[in-house]
Amino acid sequence: MNMPIRPKVAAPVRDPLDSLFDGLFRPMNADGVYARTGRYEGVVEALQALISRQREEGTEIFRFPPVMSRRHLETHGYLKSFPNLLGCVSCLEGGEGDIRKAVDRHYAGGDWTSALETADLVLTPAACYPVYPIAAARGAVPEEGYRFDVACDCFRREPSRDLDRLQSFRMREYVCIGSPAQIQAFRQRWVDKATALADRLGLAYEVVQASDPFFGRVGQLMAMNQLEQALKFELLVPLRGDGPGTACMSFNYHREHFGTTWNLRDAAGEPAHTGCVAFGIDRLAVALFATHGLETAGWPAGVREALGV
Ligand code: ATP
Ligand code: ZN
Ligand code: MG
Repeated sequence: MNMPIRPKVAAPVRDPLDSLFDGLFRPMNADGVYARTGRYEGVVEALQALISRQREEGTEIFRFPPVMSRRHLETHGYLKSFPNLLGCVSCLEGGEGDIRKAVDRHYAGGDWTSALETADLVLTPAACYPVYPIAAARGAVPEEGYRFDVACDCFRREPSRDLDRLQSFRMREYVCIGSPAQIQAFRQRWVDKATALADRLGLAYEVVQASDPFFGRVGQLMAMNQLEQALKFELLVPLRGDGPGTACMSFNYHREHFGTTWNLRDAAGEPAHTGCVAFGIDRLAVALFATHGLETAGWPAGVREALGV
């Protein structure tokens, strides 16, 4: 029997993180949307628990669904900042006849999606967004401010084959609402706590000033302004040798932006300031496997102890 001759050269490595894929994920027919293995989720759960143990006293907990009010997202100004990243829910509305017609089109080889109507929901793009209207509904912000612990499965339309850039990923955040001094102190505390955490996890990192990838040309001005005012810092973990590090946490000061947007005010009527520290849970998990290897049993003792794995 004649076997076809196959060249014996290995496919070129596309990205150094790709070697982790089979151990951690299964494909789901979309870039950046993956089924997660038990090995991976074990570390994700351990990370979440470790971050919970850092929670400051007086912090209120909320867990948000992966969808939120479209109106609220519009109010947030997301369409100005990141319209390119937004995912919006659309559904087949109407009576049985209308819906049947669309479905039949599909089975006849046509396009059923042309019948979709935009719903009043969007996919939540950041874990802290839903908390501001909740706080605002309570009236004046108390003198001691608010602290929240929030988490959400987030969606951002940035399809990529890189394991550290997903379309659907878990974000955990601590949020502070209060005076400018309270937010500045909160952010400094969390830079310190987060770097200590990265040390315990055996991750290499640097904390650098950053800007958000705001949309379009006006966005470039917004990003420059953000840099000028030092509003965002990121903890970058090198995952590709000398290449640029991956942002696994971010430390954000929004000034009075959300205070004005949601009419969050102190007793004197001044808009509250807000800030948040965000943990990219999936990025941190990938960073741990990229740094210490696929076998958690072989991870450094201190790291296993910190995580309880
Ligand atoms: P990047 O510059 O890498 O796009 P970002 O500035 O968009 O990150 P933030 O908006 O600060 O990130 O989001 C908070 C955290 O959520 C990030 O520090 C990161 O850990 C995580 N994150 C953001 N986008 C993604 C993504 N596409 N996949 C996985 N994690 C993400
Ligand atoms: Zn936030
Ligand atoms: Mg981004």
